[in-house]
Amino acid sequence: MNNCNYIGGQWVQGKGSIVNINPSDTSDIIAEYSSATSDQFEEAVQSALHAQREWEKVGIEKKSQILIKIGDELIHKSKELGELLSREEGKPLAEGIGEVARAGQQFQYYGSECLRLYGEKIPSTRPGFQVEISREPLGVIGIISPWNFPIAIPAWKAAPALMCGNAVILKPASLTPASAIELTKIITNQDIPEGLFNLVLGSGGDVGNKIATHKDIVAITFTGSVDVGKKLYQDASPQLKKMQMEMGSKNPLVVMDDADLQTAITCASNGAYGGTGQKCTASSRLIVHEKIYKEFVEGLIENIKNIKVGHALDKGTQMGPASNQSQYESNLNYVEIGKGEAKLAYGGNPMNMRTAGYYMEPTLFIDGDNKSRINQEEMFGPIACVIPAKNLENALEIANDTDFGLSSGIITQSLAKAEYFKQNIKTGVATVNLPTAGLDYHVPFGGRKASSFGPREQGTYARDFYSQVKTSYINSGSI
Ligand code: NAP
Repeated sequence: MNNCNYIGGQWVQGKGSIVNINPSDTSDIIAEYSSATSDQFEEAVQSALHAQREWEKVGIEKKSQILIKIGDELIHKSKELGELLSREEGKPLAEGIGEVARAGQQFQYYGSECLRLYGEKIPSTRPGFQVEISREPLGVIGIISPWNFPIAIPAWKAAPALMCGNAVILKPASLTPASAIELTKIITNQDIPEGLFNLVLGSGGDVGNKIATHKDIVAITFTGSVDVGKKLYQDASPQLKKMQMEMGSKNPLVVMDDADLQTAITCASNGAYGGTGQKCTASSRLIVHEKIYKEFVEGLIENIKNIKVGHALDKGTQMGPASNQSQYESNLNYVEIGKGEAKLAYGGNPMNMRTAGYYMEPTLFIDGDNKSRINQEEMFGPIACVIPAKNLENALEIANDTDFGLSSGIITQSLAKAEYFKQNIKTGVATVNLPTAGLDYHVPFGGRKASSFGPREQGTYARDFYSQVKTSYINSGSI
């Protein structure tokens, strides 16, 4: 058992046992960890309160250099940490390495942005007075993160939190603690106050709930499922905490009759099966114009046949296993549900590989009805469904008929259709001739409806969550 909770500047052992299993090879136990105890959690909050007061006084140049150094270190170690990430999460090695590099880019970006936390100065409506609008830190921020991006998501939350002068308590998903531990080592290896960054492992119901209800944690940023987000909001709202939540989705990719077929197939395959479909931006609904429906389905099936499923660390693997047993079982259950709702055109079966893991075939349903469960519920697996559409208006109607609204895409060669789609799709992200997944780090990210709650993440917009505005009035008198 490792000392795996980082509290008040020390690595400490907690209680119980969290076993980290490699989903590509369930005989490979990565490590055993322990959860933070109640006393340790309290110590984390108290030391964060203290450290935050020191950190907010640190000059922006030093803060900027520290964040950039964290970013550099992550990029420098991306191969080694990417391998660990892929081993614990199951995504192919190239994606694991890419995710660590992305976490590094987030820190580098916010290191630079740190020098641009501008305020405003404007004349008052009253002659002789001035008004200043400035940004201040919030205090101690709780980060609750999911398992599907175990280093990038904590990074894109922690970097702007620290940039704005806050302290952090991070609770990662219990399924992927190793990546969070490595991120914590790199952050806390810098010249920052002890207690500024704390890592508390433990279940959502225990440690997650403590973050929700502790009076000194003034803001929570959460990424995860809608059900947990709703529960978290209920638990945290009596204390009027500031909250930001990024949750599930059911992202549509619309393919018009004028689409370049190869682009459509590549984007659909990449969006539906990349990351084993375990991306909040995955394209699980493929809404295809009836004029090219047949060619699209035939072409997509040919593409799927060539997706190489395998151990995340094997050379050439394009799709890894499901990340955990519960997700795997849920996927296979959705295949059974789907068989009663649409036509199974490809896949649907578990796969036996050289190691025992949570492998299944990339799966395609066709002739689906948007009202069915496989098209309304987030499955979070390598399962997509093709739904026919008569025209753009009909495709938009289907695309918007969902409780979610994170990402969407259109494949078309018509600028007018692309523009009309962008204006009428009810999602926070829209792509044209690109997959619905795979986005930039310097621009806002977030959704609508049940997909998101609160201010946007990433880019300069992140400051709206991680800082608070003060309006000062100045009467400087006469000389
Ligand atoms: P999850 O089950 O909702 O868990 C997310 C986090 O919440 C984990 O750290 C979990 O801890 C914690 N948690 C669970 N119960 C809690 C409670 N009662 N109070 C406080 N925290 C609690 O989600 P997941 O299965 O890890 O991730 C998949 C989901 O994340 C999908 O729905 C996906 O769409 C969503 N996601 C969204 C985005 C986005 O940006 N919109 C990005 C990535 C993923 P434990 O691990 O200990 O249970």
